[in-house]
Amino acid sequence: MAVKGFNAFEMAQKQFDAVADLLELDQPTRDLLRTPLREYHFSIPVRMDDGSVRVFRGFRCQHNDARGPCKGGIRFHPQETIDTVRALSMWMTWKCSVVDIPLGGGKGGVICDPHDLSQREQERLCRGWMRVLAHDVGPLRDVPAPDVMTNPQHMLWMLDEYETIHGAKYPGFITGKPVGMGGSLGRTEATGYGVIFTLREALKELGIKIESTVAAVQGFGNVAQYAIKLYTQLGGKVIAVACWDQNDQASYTYRKKSGIKLEELLAITDRFGGIDKAKAESLDYERLPGDAWIEQDVDILLPAALENQINGETVKRIGPKVKVIVEGANGPTTPDADAVIKSRGIFVIPDFLANAGGVTCSYFEQVQCNMNFFWTKEEVLSKLDDKMTAAFKAVSELARTRKLYMRDAAYVISVSRVANACKDRGWV
Ligand code: GLU
Repeated sequence: MAVKGFNAFEMAQKQFDAVADLLELDQPTRDLLRTPLREYHFSIPVRMDDGSVRVFRGFRCQHNDARGPCKGGIRFHPQETIDTVRALSMWMTWKCSVVDIPLGGGKGGVICDPHDLSQREQERLCRGWMRVLAHDVGPLRDVPAPDVMTNPQHMLWMLDEYETIHGAKYPGFITGKPVGMGGSLGRTEATGYGVIFTLREALKELGIKIESTVAAVQGFGNVAQYAIKLYTQLGGKVIAVACWDQNDQASYTYRKKSGIKLEELLAITDRFGGIDKAKAESLDYERLPGDAWIEQDVDILLPAALENQINGETVKRIGPKVKVIVEGANGPTTPDADAVIKSRGIFVIPDFLANAGGVTCSYFEQVQCNMNFFWTKEEVLSKLDDKMTAAFKAVSELARTRKLYMRDAAYVISVSRVANACKDRGWV
C-alpha cells in the first residue's frame, strides 16, 4: 500500500541484503534474487454497469521460479503500488521455500476498491486481468490465488477466462477456487489455522500453556477470523480486535476484557472484515483508536492486516507482558522495529513462516486437482499441520543452534534453498 515514508520493496530488499551477507552469497546470486525476474504493468478497461468505461491499473510480479512455477495471490486495493507487489512477490518466494513446496514466488494487484464495484463489474475486472496475462501465467508458469479483498469467486472468473482463451480445462491452475469447482476443503481455514499451528509449537518450546495466554489481533479478515477460531478452541483468549471501518475511513480497536466472542462479532461483520461499530457497542465492546491493539496487556500480538504496522513508532507501545508476536500479515514489522523486538527478547514467528498455511494448502489444491481426487477436510488440515509444524521446528532449531533471531533463521533456510536451486540450474 502507499504509506508515506514506507516502501515495502525497500524493506524486503533490506531484509534480503542482511541474509545475503550472513550467507556470504556471491554477487550474481544477490543481483538475481533482490529484484523480480519479470514484472507486468498494464491497463484493464472495464465497462461499468452505467455504460461508461473505467480503466484500472494492474500488476503481476514473478520474483523467482527456480524451485517451480511462481505462486501467489492477487490483491484488490485502492492504495496498491508496484513496489508493494514487488515486495510481496519476493516474500512469496521465501514463503514457498521455507515450507519446502515446489513453487516459486509471484504476486499481483489491481488498484481498485471492490467496495465500490458491483458483482458484474468485479467479474469484468477479473476477466480483464486474465485477458492481459493469459499467455504469461498458467499452471506451469505462474499460479494466482486470493489475497487482500479477493475471494474464490474472483478466482473462478479468472480461471474461466483463462480456459476460454486456451480452449481447454486447466484444473491445476489458480488456487483458492470454490469447493466443488476444484477448490480444496480447508483452504478457507488454512492461513489462519497455519498461524496458530506455528504459535502452538512456539508456546510449547517456550514452556507456556496456550490456555493461560491472552492475545490482541489486528485485522478481522479471513486470516484473523480463522486464527481466532483455532486459538480460542485451543483455550486462548482474545481481548481485542482492530479493523478498518469503511464508512469512517478509519480503523478502530474493539475490546472486551472478558474475551471477545467470535460468533457474535462475525454476525456483525461485512464480507471485507469490517465490524459494524454501532452494533459492536450495543454488544458491550469498547471502541478504542485503531492502533490501540498494540498496547494491550496481552501475551501475544497477532498482526493480521497489512504491512508496516509494527514500525519504529508503534513498537515503543508494545506492552511489557508480550512474549510472542505471530505475524499473520505479510510484512507487518519493519527492520527498525525488528531491532527493538530482538533486544526485548520477544519471540517472533515471522510472516513468511507463520502465514505459509495458505500457500501450502494451495499446493495441496493443485496436487488434488492434478490427480483429480479430493481429500477430506481432516486429511487436508492434518497434512497442513504436519507441514507447518515441520517448517516451524526446522526454523526454531536453526535459531537455537546458531543463536539467530527467528526471522533471520527463517531467511537463512529459505534463501539458501532458492540460491541453491538457481545454482543447480546453472543460472549463476
Ligand atoms: N495470498 C496468500 C499469501 O500471501 C496465498 C497465496 C497462494 O495461495 O498462492 O500467502
